[in-house]
Amino acid sequence: MDKISQELERAAAATVPGRAGFDYLIVGAGFAGSVLAERLATQLGKRVLIVDKRPHIGGNAYDRYDDHGVLIHPYGPHIFHTNSEDIFDYLSQFTEWRPYQHRVLASVDGQMVPMPINLDTINKLYGLNLTSFEVEKFFESVAEKVEHVKTSEDVVVSKVGRELYNKFFRGYTRKQWALDPSELDASVTARVPTRTNRDDRYFADKFQAMPRHGYTRMFEKMLAHPNIKIMLNTDYRDIVDVIPWKHMVYSGPVDAFYDYKYGKLPYRSLRFEHVNVPREQFQPVGTVNYPNDYGYTRISEFKHITGQEHASTSVVYEYPCAEGDPYYPVPRPENAELYRKYEAETENTPNVTFVGRLATYKYYNMDQVVGQALATFKKLRAAEAEGSEAAAALSAPVSA
Ligand code: FAD
Ligand code: UDP
Repeated sequence: MDKISQELERAAAATVPGRAGFDYLIVGAGFAGSVLAERLATQLGKRVLIVDKRPHIGGNAYDRYDDHGVLIHPYGPHIFHTNSEDIFDYLSQFTEWRPYQHRVLASVDGQMVPMPINLDTINKLYGLNLTSFEVEKFFESVAEKVEHVKTSEDVVVSKVGRELYNKFFRGYTRKQWALDPSELDASVTARVPTRTNRDDRYFADKFQAMPRHGYTRMFEKMLAHPNIKIMLNTDYRDIVDVIPWKHMVYSGPVDAFYDYKYGKLPYRSLRFEHVNVPREQFQPVGTVNYPNDYGYTRISEFKHITGQEHASTSVVYEYPCAEGDPYYPVPRPENAELYRKYEAETENTPNVTFVGRLATYKYYNMDQVVGQALATFKKLRAAEAEGSEAAAALSAPVSA
């Protein structure tokens, strides 16, 4: 049977009297898949099956209590921050929040100094007592002239010069990506600002808060609807031809969907080493970065982030690696070019919509994925309203 006949058979099976089958098969129960499941079920009354190959919902934002009773993030520290009131309001339907401003120290030259680089970083590092105005002049005096800022090296050396670049960015980036900053798009290190004041928050967004009872509880509320069925421990490939559905929302890696026909898209992975320490506090802030020493990039202590009180504390070390779960798309020109080939395929794949960090190969934060999913929902809703003619237009990915 060819692909079109298979699609027709599926669609027919899904619309037989008694409403057998699902309107939507959603692959991945992370932010992308869960937001769409929630919207489609509650706003359009659609019947949704959401599948994930992992044994839990929440994707990489999943959290759970470890054996010592400390709330941890098994896939690394997840701190929610956004400038979008709409996104914050949307998620606020499913959780209360605990205000939290993330702070990071970097271990450099035997000292712990604020990261992003700010006035105190420079004063502490060099034993100075500069003012904001003087530190601005200092940055100007050491900054390198870069005609066109293209790479992650350009971004930093053009702002704070080579010495600070070498101390704070070069080693960390080489460890994290196994690439030199000169081989990565400017957008990667541009995530971390430079400041001339004493603001030592990692993020400057308008809304910064953690789900008061954790991410998993928030996801449970999003998915608690009679029209949403959840299937865990299941690769969608095992059920895609068995269970009837009309339209698929796919949030897994885009290259895997197409059996790597144009080659593998590089994704960077991490090995997480979780440790419980039998004392109340391990380090002074949520995260300490180690740009120049050790195999890990950073250590995060969850109790700072979640606000939990407990006699012991749990921390996670992040060791970057090539093999393992795909966590980070790698932003560089050749990968963007390869992604464009897959993106063109997605535009010609009727009945499947691609959304999320892996399916659209974008280094998105959680709020950006929520924004992308909400925009995708609007597109699906419009297509539903227009009927099947618009179905063909549904496969094009949407930007956040
Ligand atoms: P995912 O959460 O990856 O969900 C995709 C799901 O699809 C997965 O659960 C996967 O198991 C499932 N899947 C894949 N293939 C299949 C298949 N074949 N069959 C069935 N299921 C499948 N963002 C922030 O805003 N703040 C932070 O502090 C932050 N920290 C981060 C720290 C780390 C270490 C990492 C890796 C990311 C961090 N992020 C952070 C980014 C955040 O994790 C993502 O933006 C967000 O989780 C992406 O959601 P998603 O739904 O697109 O993807
Ligand atoms: N970075 C760095 N030194 C640091 C922190 C970040 O070189 O102390 C660079 C590094 O390339 C990193 C990128 O900036 O991958 C983005 O940092 P961020 O903390 O946003 O990474 P994420 O939390 O997404 O892993």
